[in-house]
Amino acid sequence: MSLIRLHVADDLVQDGAVFLGPQQTHYLANVMRARMDDEVLLFNGRDGEWLSSIVEISRRGAGLRLLGRHRPQAQGPDLDLLIAVVKRPRLETIIEKAAELGARRVRPVITARTNASQVNLERLHAIATEAAEQTGRLDVPQILEVARLAEVLAEWPGDRRLLFCDEAGEAATALDALAGAERGLWAILIGPEGGFTAEERLAARAVTGAVPVSLGPRILRADTAAIAALSLWQASLGDWRGLELSSRGAHLAQ
Ligand code: SAH
Repeated sequence: MSLIRLHVADDLVQDGAVFLGPQQTHYLANVMRARMDDEVLLFNGRDGEWLSSIVEISRRGAGLRLLGRHRPQAQGPDLDLLIAVVKRPRLETIIEKAAELGARRVRPVITARTNASQVNLERLHAIATEAAEQTGRLDVPQILEVARLAEVLAEWPGDRRLLFCDEAGEAATALDALAGAERGLWAILIGPEGGFTAEERLAARAVTGAVPVSLGPRILRADTAAIAALSLWQASLGDWRGLELSSRGAHLAQ
C-alpha cells in the first residue's frame, strides 16, 4: 500500500516537526490505523513532499518528525476550470475530478441559468485537498470565490486562452481545435444543466483567446463535460503529453 499523504499548512524543513489537529489525527489513527513510527508523506504546496514519521499519536493530537524531502515542489500546467454552479453533489464531483485531472484553480460561476447559488467554498476546498492527497499532486487546486460569468468574461485577461465548451455546436471538436494550439495559460468553461444563453455564448466567443469547441454530438451533463474537457486538454497540451517526465514519473524513474 502506498504511504499516507497529508496536506498541511506548516512550513516543511529538515528536522522540523508538524502537529496535526483533531481531524487529521482522527484520519491517521482511526481511519488509516497508523501507529507510532509509521511513515507519512506531507506536502504544503510550497516545500515539496516530505517523509515524516509519527512520534506521538493520542486523542489530543499527533506529532510528526520530518525525515527528509522526498520530492521537490512541482506544479502542473496553468489550467483553470470555470464551472457554472450546479447542484451540490455534481459540483463536488467536479471539484474532486478537477483536482485529479490537474486543474490549478476552479472558479464556480453564476450564469443566467444556474439554479443553485449556495456554494460552500470551505467544503469544496476540503474536497480538493483530499483529492490532492490521494492523487499525489504537490499542490491543492485553489477554489476561487464565486463570480458572475458576465463579469469574468468582461474582465478576461488577454493572455489566457478560453476553451469554451459550447453545447450548441457550431464549433470545431476539441481535439481539432487544440491540435495546433500553444501551451501557456488556459481556462475551460463549462455551463449549467440548462446550458448557456445566446448572449452568454456570444460573450464567451468574443473574449480574446476564445477557443469554442464541441465535445461531440451528445449533450453531456456538466460533470461529464468537465471531465471530458479536462482530459482532452491534458492529453493535447498538458502533462499527459509525455514530452517531459512528470515530477511523479521523474521520481519513479530515479
Ligand atoms: N441543457 C443544455 C445542456 C447543458 S450541458 C442543452 O440541452 O443544450 C452542461 C454544459 O456541459 C454545457 O453548457 C457545456 O458547457 C457542456 N457540454 C455538454 N455537452 C457538450 C457538448 N456536446 N459539446 C460542448 N459542450 C458540452
